[in-house]
Amino acid sequence: MRFNTSLIHGNIGPKEDKGATNVPIYQCNSFQYETARELEEVFSGKKPGFIYTRINNPTVEAFERRIAFLEEGIAAVATSSGMAAIALAILNLVRSGDEIVSASGIFGGTYSLFRSFENLGIKTRFAEDSSLESFEKHITDKTKVIFIETIGNPRLDVPNIRQIAELARKRGIALIVDSTVTTPYLVKPIKLGADVVVHSTSKFINGSGSCIGGIVVASGNMKIDYDKYPLLKDYKKYGEFAYIARLRNNLLKDFGACMSPFNAFLTTVGLETLGVRMERICENALCLAKALKENKKVISVNYPGLEESIYHQLATEQFGGKYGAILTIRVGTKENAFKVIDSLRYAINSTNIGDVRTLVVHPASTIYTSFDVEEKEAMGVYEDMIRICVGLEDVEDIIEDFYQALEKV
Ligand SMILES: *Cc1c(COP(=O)(O)O)cnc(C)c1O
Repeated sequence: MRFNTSLIHGNIGPKEDKGATNVPIYQCNSFQYETARELEEVFSGKKPGFIYTRINNPTVEAFERRIAFLEEGIAAVATSSGMAAIALAILNLVRSGDEIVSASGIFGGTYSLFRSFENLGIKTRFAEDSSLESFEKHITDKTKVIFIETIGNPRLDVPNIRQIAELARKRGIALIVDSTVTTPYLVKPIKLGADVVVHSTSKFINGSGSCIGGIVVASGNMKIDYDKYPLLKDYKKYGEFAYIARLRNNLLKDFGACMSPFNAFLTTVGLETLGVRMERICENALCLAKALKENKKVISVNYPGLEESIYHQLATEQFGGKYGAILTIRVGTKENAFKVIDSLRYAINSTNIGDVRTLVVHPASTIYTSFDVEEKEAMGVYEDMIRICVGLEDVEDIIEDFYQALEKV
């Protein structure tokens, strides 16, 4: 089954008894059983079934099944947001005294989460760049997770996923990959050796900015040393499903960060058009990047699709000649950046990514405002930088829009 077909027909589960073509919304918080015995069996796991929507729900499960299939994982757990997905994916392996080695130049919310983890006694060491050495040198006996993004947002670094996965495997450490900006259309990190894939489904998977959501996908390939990962010990009997079983039965249940059935429905509808949207978005982004490079008011354009990007070669191989929706430009000063943003007619000033609309944001004064200048620059955030996330509009209109706005500075 090819990609666009698998979005529509891949692992959609049993036919609905009323013949509904879309997944029905099971808008209820709990499920009833005829007998006490039956509910006892469902509770103990002897019999499959739904109990309470905080733990599982048919609409949410349909979405989980489809993403697990697309990512070529064994199972998935949907969450209330991308942040919940990242937090639970990590806390399923890491406890006080443990360490994380993370890429730098990652999403601001994840940086902030790692700072919060310090309060729980969990330390994060940041690799300075995306080279293998810079990850390796931060690994200690306490390292339980290596965390990367497929394309760092907003620095737009591209790590070599296969190489980092090999390093992780060699050292017996779990590799968690945030593939929000690439989606399975560009890359399937599990095929390159990732143990766990996370997404903010609020972005490209939903595609139209209609709700928040996240998902954690387990590869089933993790070689778990239960002495190194004592949190998973109680779930050993689940074999390759140990990681995802604990995630659902412990963390999701206890923290309550479940996806709502309605949001699962909206996100599933979005998912079905992921392929055509991503194809168009990637084309538009490359066109816009090339056009902005020619504009004299633009000092630099950062986009892995441009040949001068140091990540161009790797991105081409790893993502099949597509480079995603996000590019950044620098325009000299913060005032210029504000002027451009305020002068755009179509592109919307919003902190989101992965919408049908082209979005722009000034990262330094918004998502990264709580960090000092040095930290910002380490994350690839500059005062004169605008982040653009290209949408589905006709690219000629997007280019014209930026050109007229740049003329104002
Ligand atoms: C948006 C985003 C998140 C967080 O997702 P939410 O759904 O907003 O909680 C995590 N990682 C990346 C790369 C993102 O872009």
